[in-house]
Amino acid sequence: MSHEDPSKTAGSVRFVTFGCKANQYDTQVLREALLRRGLIEVSGSAKAADQADLVVVNTCTVTAEAGRKARQLVRRIHRETPDAKIAITGCLAESEPEVLAELPGVEWVLGNGEAKAPVNFLRQIGHEVGPEELGIPAGITEFAGHKRAFLKIQDGCDKACAFCIIPKVRGKSQSRSADELCAEVGRLVQAGHVEVVLCGIHIGHWGLDIGSTFAELLRRLIEVKVLDEGGSPIEWRLRVSSIEATEVDDPMVRLMADRPDRIASHLHMPMQSGSDPVLKAMNRWYTVSEYLASCDRIRDRLDRPAFTADILVGFPGETDAHFAETLRTAERAGFTKIHVFPFSARPGTAAWDMKERVAPEDSRARRAALSEAASNWENAFRLSLDGAQDRVVLEGFAGLSGRYQRVSVDPADIEGVVPAAIDVRLRAHASADGVVKLQGVPTGSLAAAGQRP
Ligand code: SF4
Repeated sequence: MSHEDPSKTAGSVRFVTFGCKANQYDTQVLREALLRRGLIEVSGSAKAADQADLVVVNTCTVTAEAGRKARQLVRRIHRETPDAKIAITGCLAESEPEVLAELPGVEWVLGNGEAKAPVNFLRQIGHEVGPEELGIPAGITEFAGHKRAFLKIQDGCDKACAFCIIPKVRGKSQSRSADELCAEVGRLVQAGHVEVVLCGIHIGHWGLDIGSTFAELLRRLIEVKVLDEGGSPIEWRLRVSSIEATEVDDPMVRLMADRPDRIASHLHMPMQSGSDPVLKAMNRWYTVSEYLASCDRIRDRLDRPAFTADILVGFPGETDAHFAETLRTAERAGFTKIHVFPFSARPGTAAWDMKERVAPEDSRARRAALSEAASNWENAFRLSLDGAQDRVVLEGFAGLSGRYQRVSVDPADIEGVVPAAIDVRLRAHASADGVVKLQGVPTGSLAAAGQRP
């Protein structure tokens, strides 16, 4: 491991991120630290990327495939830019440090303990620096290149799902303070982000370690007021993103129902399986009926909320009958999109030693069946949105609605500068091939919302 001062040898830096939203946020934290330290970011064209002296690869270890892709990319970076020094961070650096250290061009392998705090990361790569000198507030000031900013509110997880390596590589749940998070939301909105997506590893456990609750944090965050240069309040919204269904409590649902302008009507609730014996084998803590009861409770209070989910297929012991039950449960839950993951055995997890492995072709067939069913359910959901009000965060003349749907607007309906977000009434149209598209008819544009990212 090298300890020379990289400011003399690494004037430019490139970032590559694998994995979840929490990882993308972690990269932004490192990015701000390194840029404040004087390094210049190169990104975009391959030619510019070729010139980076330091490449930070923030990795994921959640599946064997994620690890394989990261190792492959590191080899390619070294082949294409043999002079670049490579620093590997993230969960793979925690789970396979020895393997990564052997890869060509790799100078530093920094696990989550060493790399999470930017000061630690900088010290490890040779910059002796104190937090004051770095001048960084806790967190980030922008989410470069994106309209929607991710905000990591906690890290780690106290559960022990049989398939998951995350608690081993990220540790117990640790919450960031509500004051710090409110200040960060203010900075992000001020920087022009009209949507802030709350993320973490197990966000429903925010507050457990500091005597508070996730609903309490939500209540604080939605009150954050940010004024534009003319002194008018900037319209912005939160998206809760991924939360366990059993942790969506009544105070949280009430806040979502009371402030649809401030909290997107969308929840991503990992289900993993829709069959009780499989949930039990996975060491998940709820039954199918408890999961569905949460969906019903939320749906009763909100106007056509969108539910999305992660489902893992081919978990050891999952039979065709279990999978058929999962399909039925998913339909009953009313998912509009499903991220389907085939089971991937990870060393160090309880599932690693489970014997009743499902044949890969069966996992593939289950994945295809679930994905196909989900696209039909999404079409039906879009049709049901005809006439609904929503707010769209625009990138050009299309964008993402609060209910996590792609919505386009007619350029003729927009006068002057395209706003960052727009309030619309939705119109659903089925095309000849059965795919339903959503068009937004503006009911009021939010021109005051920031334009910068
Ligand atoms: S709840 Fe389960 S799947 Fe989610 S991070 Fe924790 S252990 Fe992993």
